[in-house]
Amino acid sequence: MKCPRCGHEMDYRKETETFDRNYKAIQTYYKCPICGYRINDQYITLSGVNGSLKISVRTTVRMHVTK
Ligand SMILES: [Zn+2]
Repeated sequence: MKCPRCGHEMDYRKETETFDRNYKAIQTYYKCPICGYRINDQYITLSGVNGSLKISVRTTVRMHVTK
């Protein structure tokens, strides 16, 4: 995927946030290494309720620039 701002190839990355041992969130996104432009891809939440795992995937279309 090419950066819409400068045309450089973007990196695909993910960030994991752990809130407690039963709840985790993973955000995947594209980020341009040159200008820092970022496009969020998917937001995945993993939660354990009474021993069973619940997974929810949300595709984010909002774009924002990280300074
Ligand atoms: Zn760029």
